[in-house]
Amino acid sequence: MSDFDYDLFVIGGGSGGVRAARTAAATGARVALAEESRLGGTCVIRGCVPKKIMVFASGFHREVENARGFGWDAQIKGFDWTGFRGNLHDELDRLEGVYRKMLDASDVEIFDARARLTGPHEVTMADGTAVSAKHILVATGGSPVRPDMAQADLGLVSNDMFLLDRLPETLLIVGGGYIGCEFACIMAGLGVKVTMYLRGGQILNGFDDECRGLVAEMMRDHGIDIHSGTTIMDMDRADAGEHLPTGGQSDAAMGAPRMERPEPHPQPDLADNPKSGTRAHAGCPIWVKATNGREQVFDHVLFATGRRPNTADLGLEDVGIELGRKGKVKVDAYSQTSVPSVYAIGDVTDRVQLTPVAIRDAMAFTRTVFLGEDCPVDHELVPSAVFTQPELGTVGMTEEQARDDREIVVYCASFRPMRTAFIDRPDRTLMKLVVCKETRVVMGAHLVSENAGEMIQLIGIAVKNGLTKEQFDATCAVHPTAAEELVTMSQPVRAG
Ligand code: NDP
Repeated sequence: MSDFDYDLFVIGGGSGGVRAARTAAATGARVALAEESRLGGTCVIRGCVPKKIMVFASGFHREVENARGFGWDAQIKGFDWTGFRGNLHDELDRLEGVYRKMLDASDVEIFDARARLTGPHEVTMADGTAVSAKHILVATGGSPVRPDMAQADLGLVSNDMFLLDRLPETLLIVGGGYIGCEFACIMAGLGVKVTMYLRGGQILNGFDDECRGLVAEMMRDHGIDIHSGTTIMDMDRADAGEHLPTGGQSDAAMGAPRMERPEPHPQPDLADNPKSGTRAHAGCPIWVKATNGREQVFDHVLFATGRRPNTADLGLEDVGIELGRKGKVKVDAYSQTSVPSVYAIGDVTDRVQLTPVAIRDAMAFTRTVFLGEDCPVDHELVPSAVFTQPELGTVGMTEEQARDDREIVVYCASFRPMRTAFIDRPDRTLMKLVVCKETRVVMGAHLVSENAGEMIQLIGIAVKNGLTKEQFDATCAVHPTAAEELVTMSQPVRAG
C-alpha cells in the first residue's frame, strides 16, 4: 500500500481525462478525478457533439430543396430553435450521465469541484480538501479566446452558440478556422445571414489550398458573405452612441436561404455562462466598424479566433511546471511535465487540439505509467474533418507542404456528384492524392465532399500505413460512389 491517497488524480473530466481515469483504474490503480463544470468537457458539452447535432439540423432545408428536385412535393417551414435547443440539451445531459456512470463503474472517485496543484503530489479542492496522489494528470483542456481589443466581450464565443435564446437574423463571424467555418455553414443552413471576416486571404489556413478554395466557393454559393483581409477596428452596442445601423448585410448574402421565423423575443442573457466570459447585452445588436471601412450592425458577433490552454490559476508554475506559449503545459513524448509526478494530455498541451488525439494521449499515458510499456504519443498522420457543407477531410501533408519536402506528383478528381448533378445544383466534389515521386507512397489525401469526414477516416488507415498509389489502385472500385475516384485516378494532374 502506497503512502498516497490515490495512485492517480486526474484534473479535468473531458474526453482525455475520463479515458485516462478509466483505463488507469482498470489496471487496479486507485483513481480520483475532479471536474469543476460538467463531465464530458469541451467535446461533449460545448464542442464536437452539440456542433455535429447542429450540423444535422442545419442540413434539412437544403435536403428538402433537393427532395423537390427528385419529384417530392416537399416543403419546410420555420425552424423551432427553442424546441431544438431543449432536445439538444436533454441529449447533452444524457451523455454527461453516461460519463458519470462509466466513471462510477470503473471505481473512479469523482470530485465535482475545481482542483489546483498544491504540491508535486498534492491537489487541493476549492473547499480546501487536500488529497495526495503518486501521479497527477492535468487534462483541463482549452477555452476560446477573443482578440485583444476594446469591447471584445460583447462578442460571443463558440461556447455561447449552444445557449442562444433565439437565432439571430444576422451574425458576423470573425476567424476562418475550423470553428468559424463550421458555424458559418450551420447558421447559414438555419437561415441566418452570415458574414465572415478573415484577417488573412482565405479560410482554413494550413489546409490544402485547392480544398480551401473550393470550400470557400461553396460557402459563398450558400450565401455566406466572406471578406478576406478584414478585421474589426471598433465595436460597440448599437444603442451606445451615434452608430450607423446599416442593416447588417451586403448584397452577396441575399441568396441565403430564408425561412419563416418565430416572433422575436428578448436576446439571451449570456452573462450566466461561466465558460464564456461573454458580457450580456440584453437584446442589443452590435455595431461594428471594419478595416474595409464598412460600418454594420449585427445581431451577434462570434469570435472564432482560436483557443488557449486552460492553465490559469491551477498552481502549475508554483510547483515548478514549465509552461510554454499561450500558457500550454510543456511535456515530453510521454506527456510528462518538468515535474516528474505530473503529466498533461489533450488540449492543455496545445499539441493537436482534437478529441481523438486527447483520448489516444490518455491511453499512451496509462500504458506508460501503469502498464510499464514504452508508449510515446503518436501525433503523425492524424486524419481530421471540418464539418462545413460540403465537408473537408484531410490526412497527411498538403500539396504545399509536400512540395517543400520532396518531389511529388498530384492526382486530382473534380466532378459534380451524381446526387446533386441530377437536380442541377452547382455542388462539386474534389479529391486529391499527394504522392511521393520516388517511393509512390501517398503522403496526403484531401477531400471536399459530402461525407468527407466518413471517407477520410477510412483513407486515413491507408495513408497511416504508408500505402503506395499502386496499392490504392489495386483496390477495386465500389460503383457508383464518389469515393471510387480515390482508386481510379490514373494520370497525375501535375508534378512538382
Ligand atoms: P483555428 O486556429 O482553427 O482558427 C482561428 C482563426 O481565427 C483563424 O482563421 C485565424 O486567422 C483567426 N484569428 C486568430 N486571431 C485573430 C485575431 N486576433 N483577429 C482576427 N482573426 C484571428 O481555431 P478555431 O477556434 O477555429 O479552432 C480551435 C481548434 O479546435 C482547432 O485548431 C481544431 O484543432 C479544434 N477544432 C476541431 C474541429 C474538428 O475537428 N472538426 C472543430 C472545431 C475545433 P489566421 O488563419 O490568419 O491565423
